Amino acid sequence: MRSLKDLEFWFVTGSQPLYGDDAIASCVAHADDMIKKMNGFGTLPCAVVNKGVVTCTEEITKIMKEVNYSDKCAGVIIFAHTFSPSKMWIKGLVDLNKPLLHLHTQYNRDIPYATMDMDFMNLNQSAHGDRETGFMATRLRMNRKIVVGHWEDPRVAEKIGGWMRSAAGIILGKELKICRFGDNMRFVGVTEGDKVETEIKLGWECNTYPVGGLVKGINAVTDAEVEEKLAEYTSKYDLNTDNLDSVKYQAKCEIAMEKFFKKNDFNAFTNTFQDLYGMEQLPGIATQNLMSKGIGYGGEGDWKIAALDTIMKKMAEGMPGGTAFMEDYTYHLEQGNEMIMGAHMLEVDPCVAATKPKIEVHELSIGDKGAPARLVFNGKGGKGITCCLVDMGGRLRLICADVEAVEPKVEMPKLPVARCLWRPLPDLLTSAEAWILAGGAHHTVLSFDLTAEHMRDYAEMAGIEFVHIHKDINITDFKRDLMLADIAYQIKGIK
Ligand code: MN
Repeated sequence: MRSLKDLEFWFVTGSQPLYGDDAIASCVAHADDMIKKMNGFGTLPCAVVNKGVVTCTEEITKIMKEVNYSDKCAGVIIFAHTFSPSKMWIKGLVDLNKPLLHLHTQYNRDIPYATMDMDFMNLNQSAHGDRETGFMATRLRMNRKIVVGHWEDPRVAEKIGGWMRSAAGIILGKELKICRFGDNMRFVGVTEGDKVETEIKLGWECNTYPVGGLVKGINAVTDAEVEEKLAEYTSKYDLNTDNLDSVKYQAKCEIAMEKFFKKNDFNAFTNTFQDLYGMEQLPGIATQNLMSKGIGYGGEGDWKIAALDTIMKKMAEGMPGGTAFMEDYTYHLEQGNEMIMGAHMLEVDPCVAATKPKIEVHELSIGDKGAPARLVFNGKGGKGITCCLVDMGGRLRLICADVEAVEPKVEMPKLPVARCLWRPLPDLLTSAEAWILAGGAHHTVLSFDLTAEHMRDYAEMAGIEFVHIHKDINITDFKRDLMLADIAYQIKGIK
């Protein structure tokens, strides 16, 4: 599976022959200057590649076919510098099967009132010419991102950069393979889902592999490999246990999984404490250390969240905050200070740690296996989102809630797992009511890097439903919106 740095976005500038060669030469020069400078901003996560000025149906159709065909190209940015008649765009846009961004900008930032003439007007006419181009995407009911503003405005670059991350999530999703060890936890509903529909919409490939095969791999790990893994653990984490045998068993689990994942190009996985036949422990630090390297995980067989974890990690590549598999675990319901504590029985991703994780060994109260080594730490504070993906029967719904995490400042000497604390917006009572109305899961992906806008763009490009729980939410409106979405998705033709 590739990453963000392997992708590029193509920039196509629209015009028409009506203005003569001099005007087209100006379009070319302006596009060159814009793209060179945009790449120099240092804020875009991927390169923008200049694909020149297009002036007729044939050129537009040809470039869109090349967009589709190029593995490196993750999407196309269009901008009509001058009036670009939108019927020229029909065939190209109909063929396009990659993310589309319409940059509604203008080469000149300001109106030069004292000097302007009609030549200036004709070379700075995207205010009307680019609306004509935009019409066709709307007429075709295309999902696309529209970014408005001067191309040197940092807010514009931020929007384009954010969209690039979402588009990368779409493109890289088609390369994502999820390895399931065992089914999902018995009787659990929200972790179920239609794997065929998910592969159609999101590209995620999800298949099961026997735990027995993994056990074979664990037993084949050499002492030298275990020592190397222990050195890795102690270089990253503080050892806070005398039970080295447990840590070594976890090292074996990680090594066996890492080899298997590399061999088969898996970038997400699930397991379940109900299907560990032949294993001595549920993987704890083994899973946590894999997650810290970008492998997505879902507990209790939750393959949808494992995949979303990987995709969101990819989308957030190079950002400083952290993106992690999480579970809403327990509540603090003090009036006016309500908070959620997120944790899991073992598998909390150290990429959201505020304190250096400690390696500890404790008994696990479920699963009837040996005491697993795990990383214990406090989660960091900051603005973030929690996301989950649920199968509504016939469609997928991505739910995103805005949260503000706080670093726990109290001692929890008896809690043997990593933990995070956060306040959902506008408050826990409203957010949790909305989350439950929307059918949101207990497993989520918590991200300090991505925002609801990233996730909305991602969902729109994928053609799945998006539900956002935010500071201005009103439960009455929210219920109506859920009802309208249900009706809309039942109407034939809305996909
Ligand atoms: Mn769980």
